[in-house]
Amino acid sequence: MHEELRIATEPVVVQAIINGKQVAAEKRYARENPANPEEIVGYGPVNTREDAVQAIDAAAVAFPAWAQTPLRERIEYMRRAIARFREAAPELVPLLSREHGKPVYDAQGEIFVSLAWMEYACDIAEEVLAEKVEQHENGKTIITRDPMGVVAAITPWNYPLALSTIKIAPALIAGNTMVLKPSPFAPLAVSKVVEWMAGELPAGVLNMVHGDADVGVELTTNPKVAKIAFTGGTKTATHIMKSASDTIKNMTLELGGNDAALVLSDFDVNDERAMRRLVISNFLTTGQICMIAKRVYVHRSIYTAFVEKYIEAANKWIRVGDAFHPDVTVGPINNLPQVRHVERLIEDAKSRGAQVIPLGRILDENVFAKGYFMQPTLVLGAGYDDPIVVEEQFGPTVPVLPYDDEEQGIQLVNNSIYGLTSSVWGEEEHALRVARRIEAGTTMINTAAIQGLDIRYPFGGFKQSGIGREYGVEGLLGYTELHVINIPKVGELPNIPE
Ligand code: NAD
Repeated sequence: MHEELRIATEPVVVQAIINGKQVAAEKRYARENPANPEEIVGYGPVNTREDAVQAIDAAAVAFPAWAQTPLRERIEYMRRAIARFREAAPELVPLLSREHGKPVYDAQGEIFVSLAWMEYACDIAEEVLAEKVEQHENGKTIITRDPMGVVAAITPWNYPLALSTIKIAPALIAGNTMVLKPSPFAPLAVSKVVEWMAGELPAGVLNMVHGDADVGVELTTNPKVAKIAFTGGTKTATHIMKSASDTIKNMTLELGGNDAALVLSDFDVNDERAMRRLVISNFLTTGQICMIAKRVYVHRSIYTAFVEKYIEAANKWIRVGDAFHPDVTVGPINNLPQVRHVERLIEDAKSRGAQVIPLGRILDENVFAKGYFMQPTLVLGAGYDDPIVVEEQFGPTVPVLPYDDEEQGIQLVNNSIYGLTSSVWGEEEHALRVARRIEAGTTMINTAAIQGLDIRYPFGGFKQSGIGREYGVEGLLGYTELHVINIPKVGELPNIPE
């Protein structure tokens, strides 16, 4: 079915984009296909801190005129940029699948959500960003939503398009300019998107540099950057907060998660569709999603039956293979350090006596042996405080643990440094009562992960899962400063002497 997409093209070469132009770098780095690391999918530039300075300068120069451009015009610009992305989307699917490893359906889903959010941001912007005028006994107050200036957007590899466009559209519509730095583990498709979108915008409004922590440090310390929009690991965020502290930058941080699924005693283990949704919530994008269910707590009264039915459902849904195989549901892991991280957690669980059960089917053993593949697993018998339970695995393995009573279940869910999303599975009213007690930015009932995501509502984390929100109205307001203009009738306080 997807053979027509598989055709290997010439490696894609992408560059930095500074002030509307592609800027060549002296050196380049290769991005391999994780399903077949011998295949180079493309090259990105090795940018320097100096390149980052130039990109920030370009964004700073472009800012005043862009900020003064009427909102309606900025929205029109954005709609043209989105149209350009939409038009080229079909050619992005194979590129994203090849550089990332995610199956074609998953790459298509990522593009769909990227476009849907950006269009929604355009649709709501006039109402959300409208100024408010209040007449009152002391005179008149006008409250405007002003842009902040230059935004540095730093994004991870797992959803490179969705997590970049989640920042680009609201930041630019609100009148900011941007320098975006994608992850070196999936830099190609997002660079094409930025190239196309930047081409529809005034020069300097949207810039991009490549690199890792070195370039990241410039983006997070440069005094001309007003705001950091970061999605990535919690550990990285601690460095970013330190870097940004000297110039007190505004920040939105979307960080790690160790999301729990809490399965209540009245969950119907024979509900095959619900069980399938839970399996998908654990293994979509090979488990490499911030908001995927990474630990499952099941009421002891149904634990044995649950495990049996779960394995059945997982064995049906999980089909591991190359992104372009027509039957694939789970691709390779994106990169080797991530493979090692997941392996370490599984080995550790085994050494503590846990049982590790392989799940699903490998579609082609030869393909599997070549790439960064890992057989998905279910981990039984882990301790509540074992690393596989308390650390974010970000890969195709999930611990399932029993609990005895609801209070304990809720405590286990909340006993985490993270609080991104969560899910409760069972009779709806009962699940809702429990959901209200969970410490997480989003709680879904009888579904989880992307299946329960709605871009019209704010997304973000409690605790060390982040600061601020993306998506929804808040996802737009996060790129604005409140500016109050007071025109008081008198303008003097009565207690100040003449
Ligand atoms: P990462 O933190 O390693 O890298 C994220 C980005 O930060 C990359 O572009 C990287 O080059 C850059 N970076 C690294 N060090 C930096 C520094 N010192 N200064 C500035 N930038 C620096 O994360 P990753 O491995 O790419 O992504 C996986 C992590 O992202 C997981 O923890 C996952 O949960 C999290 N994530 C969170 C969300 C969310 O919305 N909350 C979404 C997706 C992924």
